[in-house]
Amino acid sequence: MKIATVLRNDDHTRQVDIRLREKLAASTSRSYRFLDANSQEKPDMVLSIGGDGTMLEAVHQYGFEPHYIGIHTGHLGFYADWHPDQLDEFAEALEQVDPLIAEYPTVSCQIRTKDGQLLEKWALNELVIRNASLSSLVVSVFINEQEFEHFRGDGLIISSPSGSTAYNKAVDGALLHPSLEAIQLAEIASINNQSYRTINSALVLPKHHQVELIIMNPEIMLGMDREQGVWKNVDSITCRVGPQKVKFARYKRLTFWDRVRKAFIHG
Ligand code: NAP
Repeated sequence: MKIATVLRNDDHTRQVDIRLREKLAASTSRSYRFLDANSQEKPDMVLSIGGDGTMLEAVHQYGFEPHYIGIHTGHLGFYADWHPDQLDEFAEALEQVDPLIAEYPTVSCQIRTKDGQLLEKWALNELVIRNASLSSLVVSVFINEQEFEHFRGDGLIISSPSGSTAYNKAVDGALLHPSLEAIQLAEIASINNQSYRTINSALVLPKHHQVELIIMNPEIMLGMDREQGVWKNVDSITCRVGPQKVKFARYKRLTFWDRVRKAFIHG
């Protein structure tokens, strides 16, 4: 089995990586080959060692083909099932257990610039749009080509179900189980007064719907998972459920609601 690793940049994580390689090298029933970071070969499995942020980096580096597994070098992660003190159990599971493959939906975005370019992007957690300066983001929101509202405020988040527990949660969006093929549009500090009005609730859109955001600001800040930057001359952004999903190999039963409870209620 060809394995690629993506590590958080700290000593503890590097130590966990070394220990894991030693354990898998000692396996007598399976052969594991770790690929170099710059290898052109396609891995069968990608191991993210770090946090959920490390997993986001891994999925953008390796895409939709491999299976992903996370070892969390902090607290329990939403994308990571294993702790560094469970490396023996993990190595045993790799040899003995048939994993369940959990496929998580993504957000797909088409960014249209004022000079007619069309760029395709995707996110596992979310797309975030904010004004590039501290003044308001101004956006006309269309759902399925019908004008829905005129948004004025700090920003908008379009998240996937597995991203619903991240930035989306901080703005009171709903938590969506990743078996739902949907995207969620949530507001960041909308202005609601006698001049401006938005729905002021998060909206969950099914797979066959799309949301189009017509951008009025000359410059915006765009975030797609970990990637972020200032974009000039964006005309519109259209988001829908992505055609591809990210595949996670689950070797033990830890449900999405277990993760939610452990992360937010009882650790
Ligand atoms: P960061 O700002 O260093 O950390 C963001 C935090 O979000 C980390 O604790 C990370 O967990 C956690 N996280 C990431 N994905 C998650 C998920 N699907 N469910 C629950 N928690 C999740 O940024 P980063 O590590 O590069 O991660 C990028 C993400 O940060 C973005 O996709 C966005 O969702 C999130 N973010 C959140 C806020 C907010 O809540 N106000 C603001 C900006 C960005 P780990 O510690 O395990 O890495």
